[in-house]
Amino acid sequence: MWNSFSRSRKAQTTLPCRECGKPVIIERSCHEVHLTCPACGKSYPIQEYIREADEAMEDFLNHVYCDRM
Ligand SMILES: [Zn+2]
Repeated sequence: MWNSFSRSRKAQTTLPCRECGKPVIIERSCHEVHLTCPACGKSYPIQEYIREADEAMEDFLNHVYCDRM
């Protein structure tokens, strides 16, 4: 499918950075997904936010897992 989302490797979420409270970005590298804060540069494993995942994060993860199949 050719939607813009399937090509994108990162997405803006509404989840606040633990450090500075700014919204973090979910990002995918080759083999793992993590969250980074564009404001302070902190990065977090997804496990840290998985229980409070918002729609953008869940959507992103769905696409990541689709890609692997
Ligand atoms: Zn931050």
